Amino acid sequence: MAFDLQIRAADWRAHLVATRDAHPAIVPVIKGNGYGLGRQRLAGEAFRLGADMISVGTYEEAAELLGAFTGDVQVLTPWRPFSPRVADGRLIHTVSRIEDIAPLAAQLPGARIVVEGLTSMARHGMDRHSITEAARSIAEAGLVVEGFAIHLPMAGANLPEARTWCAILETSALATTTVFCSHLTVSELEQLRTERPNLTIRPRVGTALWLGRLDTLEVRSTVLDVHTVQRGERVGYRQGRVPRDGHVLVVAGGTSHGIGLEAPRAVAGVAGRGKAVAKGGLAAAGLALSPFTIAGKQRWFVEPPHMQASMILLPEGVPVPAVGDRLPAAVRYTIAQFDAITEV
Ligand SMILES: *Cc1c(COP(=O)(O)O)cnc(C)c1O
Repeated sequence: MAFDLQIRAADWRAHLVATRDAHPAIVPVIKGNGYGLGRQRLAGEAFRLGADMISVGTYEEAAELLGAFTGDVQVLTPWRPFSPRVADGRLIHTVSRIEDIAPLAAQLPGARIVVEGLTSMARHGMDRHSITEAARSIAEAGLVVEGFAIHLPMAGANLPEARTWCAILETSALATTTVFCSHLTVSELEQLRTERPNLTIRPRVGTALWLGRLDTLEVRSTVLDVHTVQRGERVGYRQGRVPRDGHVLVVAGGTSHGIGLEAPRAVAGVAGRGKAVAKGGLAAAGLALSPFTIAGKQRWFVEPPHMQASMILLPEGVPVPAVGDRLPAAVRYTIAQFDAITEV
């Protein structure tokens, strides 16, 4: 137990239930590192919530989670002729190009699909003018349409765009009344349902579900070593000079845990350096701010994080933690990897 996560389980689960209840027909999204919490754990939670379907990022994740979840598994990455072949009656493919329809049907006859529209995200999807032609090809190919999907940006108001796509779907020949969508607020979803009573709107939610109450999640690093240093002394892989008297702390958590290096602000151009000097902080010495908090303040990296540990500078005068003490750490959950996750 070195760099780990504690989940206040009762409060976290209460949030999951509240989010589910606020999002009728919710499809939990489980992808990547499982939002830092692990895909298997989230699949178990989706089952507990009574979800009939989950969305995963890739075919590799689908192959894994078909074994961990008993409902349908939707793959968010659109099918391509080079996608790994995963054949399962509970699998739902995303189709985003007309030219993929026939080869998919040839490889997996009668496959279940959602058709994706190309939104302002400009990631994947069919142009609005292609939907009717796609509907014809899909019917000819004998694929089963389980819904229409739109992936909306995280910024800005998405309701007008969602409205447009619902109208396109209703006038298309696509054989479905289900719309899967992302990043609409609860009130926007309600509004859309009111305007389009013939459609079933199914929000695909990841972050707001799993990470919607960060106060129930506590990341803790462990102090592994403490060294007294004097200003000017050389330390670390890079043998940089320590800019202050104080202590170097070696703490658990490095690049393998998803601890990233914030770009050193002081070297971001002359203006940046000027600002850093004006602030008088250690940024002026070219250091980067670490995610580790000691005595109520985020502290500075002595050098970029190592694989399993980081070196932190604690200036003279700050109470020095002992080896074994635990420190709070701020992480970006979608890249975080914990040594252990415990529920309390
Ligand atoms: C990741 C993803 C989502 C969920 O996004 P969150 O911001 O985690 O809720 C929804 N739809 C698609 C297509 C995605 O790729």
